[in-house]
Amino acid sequence: MKTQLELAREGVITPQMKTVARDENLTPEYVCGKVAQGEIVIPNNPNRKNQKVVGIGTGLRTKVNASIGTSSDIYDIDLEVRKARAIQEEGADTLMELSAGGDLDKVRQTVLDSTDLPVGNVPLYQAFHDTARKYKNPNKMDPEFLFDLIEKQLADGLSFMAIHCGINQFSIERMRNQGFRYGGLVSKGGTFMVSWMEYNKKENPLYEQFDRVCALMKKYDAVLSLGNGIRAGAIHDSHDRAQMAEMIVNCELAELGREMGCQMMVEGPGHVPLDEIEGNIMLEKRMSGNAPYYVLGPLPCDIGAGYDHITAAIGAANSARYGADLICYITPAEHLALPNEADVREGVRVTRLAVHIGDVAKYPDRRDRERLVSLARRDSRWDDMMRLLMFPDKAEEVRKSRSPENEKTCTMCGDFCAMQRGMSLFENDIRGDKVSPKGDMPN
Ligand code: SF4
Repeated sequence: MKTQLELAREGVITPQMKTVARDENLTPEYVCGKVAQGEIVIPNNPNRKNQKVVGIGTGLRTKVNASIGTSSDIYDIDLEVRKARAIQEEGADTLMELSAGGDLDKVRQTVLDSTDLPVGNVPLYQAFHDTARKYKNPNKMDPEFLFDLIEKQLADGLSFMAIHCGINQFSIERMRNQGFRYGGLVSKGGTFMVSWMEYNKKENPLYEQFDRVCALMKKYDAVLSLGNGIRAGAIHDSHDRAQMAEMIVNCELAELGREMGCQMMVEGPGHVPLDEIEGNIMLEKRMSGNAPYYVLGPLPCDIGAGYDHITAAIGAANSARYGADLICYITPAEHLALPNEADVREGVRVTRLAVHIGDVAKYPDRRDRERLVSLARRDSRWDDMMRLLMFPDKAEEVRKSRSPENEKTCTMCGDFCAMQRGMSLFENDIRGDKVSPKGDMPN
């Protein structure tokens, strides 16, 4: 079987490319060309029937990923299913199943069955989890077990995987030489891989045998997302030498993987102050040859716990604006606890809004919905306005909870409604595209 990338290079426009083109209002030729260059990836896996087709990369709407998963403290498969369904209902584009507690095979399969979103994971979690159960020491993980596990998980139907190939002895040395870090290590998979390397005095097998990782991903046409195992977990660590060492290696591996015909994506931080976000994205794009960039927020400050979904949304709006392609949500429980169903709903909503804000800036020619909602608001066409909002249910709830006397206005200004007065003054002067369109508003 050939991958989307290999087929695109032969000029074959696949059904997946056509779907992406239709959903994004682009031509199939454009999508095919960008897939061929490795600038668009389409998580795929023929073992999973009826999976939603989603494109990630240059020229496309910025996508939102939402992660779920059990922990060693909370193992509740029903809760994970409810979260997976909530994530899809709220409009996330992809889902990562990151369980690290209980029967991991069972959770993965149950989650795969409960959504049709593309599902990814981090195979190192199960490798270390199962090894720790068997030997009481995750550092005893056998690399062969890890490779077998990657294949088994792919066979189950995962269509992308975050794999920590970019950590190597060079990046660990940078960590030591710079005097460790303000915020320590924050990637679960990455930290256990560093621990394994230190314990066994060996190089990272995912780095040493990168071609083997690519061969497995290719076999299932899944996207290899190069994990950010040494990402900064504090803004004071942002762009330190250890993080940059891994980023350079990941960008190099993105190129190597593409040469092998594998769909590649690079992962980014983490915690990044606002003034460094543009530079971070420029570096990844420049060094990787514009590989799709998957960032975790980022969080532009460290003191927002409890409201970190909002902290991250500010980072996400900026990262989308400067070119990030897929953004992992952050929930209000970040840094504090395993998210519940309400947390994941809120996380998806604010991240969707954040990436939309970024896309409004990234694609100035795609702002028509903003224009239409403004016209509806100006004209006091409340029903049309509600239809055009991202979250009409929330807007309706607030409006209905405090109904005005005059239904053209709201209780904010009541008799002194600026919209009504402005229209009474200028209604006859409206022309051009400031005239409200007739008929139904698009949804
Ligand atoms: S009452 Fe005030 S807030 Fe409400 S629609 Fe009119 S101008 Fe806007």
